[in-house]
Amino acid sequence: MAEVIVVGGGVGGMVAALLLSRAGHRVRLHEQLDRLGGKLAERGRDGFAFSLGPSLLTLPEVFHELGVAREAVALDELCRYRFADGSVLRAYRDPDRMAAEVERFAPGQGAAWEAFYAWARKCFEASQRTFFAGPVGRRPPDGNPADLLAVAPGRTLHGLARRFFDDRRLRQYVGRYATYAGSSPYRAPAALGCVPAIEHGAGGWYVPGGLPRLAEDLAGLLDDAGVEVRTGSTVARVLSDGESVTGVVLASGEREAADAVLVNADAAELYGRLLPDRRRLRRIAGLGTSSSAFLMLAGVDGRTDGLPHHSVVFSGDYRREFADIFQRRVPPEDPTVYIGCSAVDDPSQARPGRRTGRCWSTSRRATRSGGRWRRRRTGIWSWSGWRAAGTTCRDGCGSWSCSRPRTCGTGTGPGAERSMARRTGGGWRRCAVRATAGRAAACTWWAGRCIPGAGSRWWR
Ligand SMILES: Cc1cc2nc3c(=O)[nH]c(=O)nc-3n(C[C@H](O)[C@H](O)[C@H](O)COP(=O)(O)OP(=O)(O)OC[C@H]3O[C@@H](n4cnc5c(N)ncnc54)[C@H](O)[C@@H]3O)c2cc1C
Repeated sequence: MAEVIVVGGGVGGMVAALLLSRAGHRVRLHEQLDRLGGKLAERGRDGFAFSLGPSLLTLPEVFHELGVAREAVALDELCRYRFADGSVLRAYRDPDRMAAEVERFAPGQGAAWEAFYAWARKCFEASQRTFFAGPVGRRPPDGNPADLLAVAPGRTLHGLARRFFDDRRLRQYVGRYATYAGSSPYRAPAALGCVPAIEHGAGGWYVPGGLPRLAEDLAGLLDDAGVEVRTGSTVARVLSDGESVTGVVLASGEREAADAVLVNADAAELYGRLLPDRRRLRRIAGLGTSSSAFLMLAGVDGRTDGLPHHSVVFSGDYRREFADIFQRRVPPEDPTVYIGCSAVDDPSQARPGRRTGRCWSTSRRATRSGGRWRRRRTGIWSWSGWRAAGTTCRDGCGSWSCSRPRTCGTGTGPGAERSMARRTGGGWRRCAVRATAGRAAACTWWAGRCIPGAGSRWWR
């Protein structure tokens, strides 16, 4: 039996702590926030509930195998994609139905989707035998050389999309899977194309009450397993005697000895601060950072018929959008926007007759235009370059901006709202963001109706 310290109480850290404890070790988990879950977080206000991080669950059996008893709900329509030309693709869980939908959407491309799906399945199977089978670096017992070729090494996700699809919109749909990992489809490896094999095979799921319920379930299992959990406890340093780790130092100055330390935080945090290692840090820095999300939470009056749980509204020029984010390092003028509305499948997420929703687009923290992206404690970046002279929130508000000099700012610049309105067929008319003390909030217009002060009322 070893003394093990786990750093980080996100899903990864919690599961690692649980498995180590069940394997007979004495485990202590340190989480710097005052709650467990990490990015699996939520915010509630005035009868509305918002997931701040994950909204779509895949492979729920992984949680069941750990002992989580909660039942998830399978979504029939995984996501609805709207493209700049106004066309709509509905992604159904059932692969045959999805192929038929692709054929309707872009005649002649149904067979191409079937071929793409077959490739994705092979890629996923190969990943299960290798990448998911155990620690990276250890030779996987069931792997074989063909598995290397199955992941299309050397090809980007966009390159993979070009291999299968003639239709530009379908390439954009494939490219979207890169954003699951905060990456650009023009740089991310083709292996991310295995995700559709999971979503269209095992399905995409929702957890009633919101995905953060899983964090509560895991916390209960940690308790049952006897893991000592310390929240509000920041690990400042991992101690080492030059050969192996010997424990940690907490921000409070306290020292704790351990036979092993498992850090489930960003690698840059580990090699930059906790256990400084210049060589490894340089390698990570060379990869660059992944993209951040600009997130808005909106509770609105009324219901919009036909709105699905998950929608993606694509930009008109995907290549330019990612060049903005990863090369020019500015928030994209025409962003792809994800809209999640959990109240579609779960009335507990909003007050009767109302909707809760969140929408986000990817961007990067660096901007040129006076202002900066700030990292919030949730791990999400928010824009804090407030304009001194705000426009009003009413008609004529020409961008993601709103009233109140000094407390309001623009999100992605003039034109973004207009292009969103165009791309959602007029559904999403305006989106205004207000911020106070670094907290971004939203007041919103939906389906041509102004929702008076939905944001300003909450966040005052
Ligand atoms: C907006 C958004 C949407 C997403 N949507 C989905 C989705 O729909 N489906 C999906 O599967 N995934 C989604 N993801 C990804 C998913 O949220 C993450 O992959 C997952 O939550 C990561 O869990 P983790 O435990 O590895 O890390 P984290 O959740 O980041 O946990 C790390 C924890 O370590 C703590 N920590 C760090 N340093 C220290 C320290 N020195 N001392 C103590 N504690 C420390 C942090 O406070 C944090 O709680 C989404 C992510 C975001 C941001």
